[in-house]
Amino acid sequence: MPDNLPEALETTRLSMQRFIDTVLVPLDGKLETTTKIPLEIQEQVRQASRAAGFFYRTQPLEFGGNPAGALELTLLREMLAATNTPLASYVFGPGPGLLHAAEGELRSRYLEPLMRGDKTSAFGFTEPDTAPRPTWAVLEGDSLVVTGQKSYVTGGESCDFVCILVNVEQPDGSRAGTAMVVIDRDADGVSIDNAFTSMEGGGHVSMVFQQVRIPVTQVIGKIGEGMPRALGNIGNVRLMVAAQAMGMCLWTLEYVEAHLKSPHRSGAPLGDREGIRLRYADMRIETYVARSALYRTARLVESGENSVNEVIATKVFCTETAGRLIDMAVQLVGGQALVQGHPLEALYRQVRSLRLVEGASDLLRINLVKGRLELQKGRV
Ligand SMILES: Cc1cc2nc3c(=O)[nH]c(=O)nc-3n(C[C@H](O)[C@H](O)[C@H](O)COP(=O)(O)OP(=O)(O)OC[C@H]3O[C@@H](n4cnc5c(N)ncnc54)[C@H](O)[C@@H]3O)c2cc1C
Repeated sequence: MPDNLPEALETTRLSMQRFIDTVLVPLDGKLETTTKIPLEIQEQVRQASRAAGFFYRTQPLEFGGNPAGALELTLLREMLAATNTPLASYVFGPGPGLLHAAEGELRSRYLEPLMRGDKTSAFGFTEPDTAPRPTWAVLEGDSLVVTGQKSYVTGGESCDFVCILVNVEQPDGSRAGTAMVVIDRDADGVSIDNAFTSMEGGGHVSMVFQQVRIPVTQVIGKIGEGMPRALGNIGNVRLMVAAQAMGMCLWTLEYVEAHLKSPHRSGAPLGDREGIRLRYADMRIETYVARSALYRTARLVESGENSVNEVIATKVFCTETAGRLIDMAVQLVGGQALVQGHPLEALYRQVRSLRLVEGASDLLRINLVKGRLELQKGRV
């Protein structure tokens, strides 16, 4: 557990542990596969989470939520990831995401149903390398006409609406800036040209927008604010990914420890061998250092100080650490860890995406140095 937690968080930690032991672990035992989770089990997790109060910790007060701070959320997300059960993803209620400050129709038609769980959304930012030009929208009176493609929209097949980044143009072709816009999944001109699954099991689509007409009231914020809005909440999401990576490391260390202590065909447990101990020592050292960074950064974020660069450093370091650690775990456990259905086989696939999502490692490195050289930001 992280050291020196405030007393209130220690209480939260204990109640999350109770929730894990009494709800998630027993329900996880009923799963026949880790990919297709029966709807009634998803609902059982949500109901138990509502009763325990965790469901509301990612939701704003105005929607009946009880939002947790960065440190508490980091703790909870790490604990949930350390269970290594897919049921962990049903514990928190939907957050407002990009729509957090939506007003008027955007609020009543999209944000409120989203928060009630009546509608689901997806996010479209990534574009295909082959696109002739980035997705654009032409202003025509009170409408925007959107054309283009988003190539990697998670949950895009089943969502009710998608929030996408577009470059807005005046009818004469002059630029008006970027905007985040909301488009109904079933609007005229929206189609899916490819549905695919990534190696960790996530379902995504490539979406095409052909002359999709939307009212300007479906712009989130103002035209010109697209990029900052798209990236507005990214720091919190990156911290979440880092916490998830550390939870994976905790589960893996425990799994490997049990393996090293168990009988081995050589006659002595693998953990008796010095060479193996050295590898396992490195796994523990790296996890210790990465978790120290995670909790230092979570405290910084909680304090309200500028911590953009520290979150970047933490996301890169924690996800890369988790990648190395799970790779080494597979090596120490041996061929059985690669058999489909083995927990390390699944974890090995899951951890790979963390170095790409919410900012690929090298792009984040470039941003971090930009923050230092051009803005004089960033602690060490
Ligand atoms: C599981 C998963 C879920 C995803 N969900 C979504 C989603 O819901 N919505 C969405 O919009 N996207 C989503 N993505 C896409 C993800 O955001 C992108 O894969 C990621 O941003 C990298 O972009 P790219 O794939 O276009 O690769 P590229 O941008 O082509 O980058 C590939 C590599 O090139 C290098 N590189 C690129 N640019 C530079 C540069 N300027 N300087 C130096 N090196 C560079 C880096 O090493 C980088 O890793 C998802 C991806 C995954 C794996």
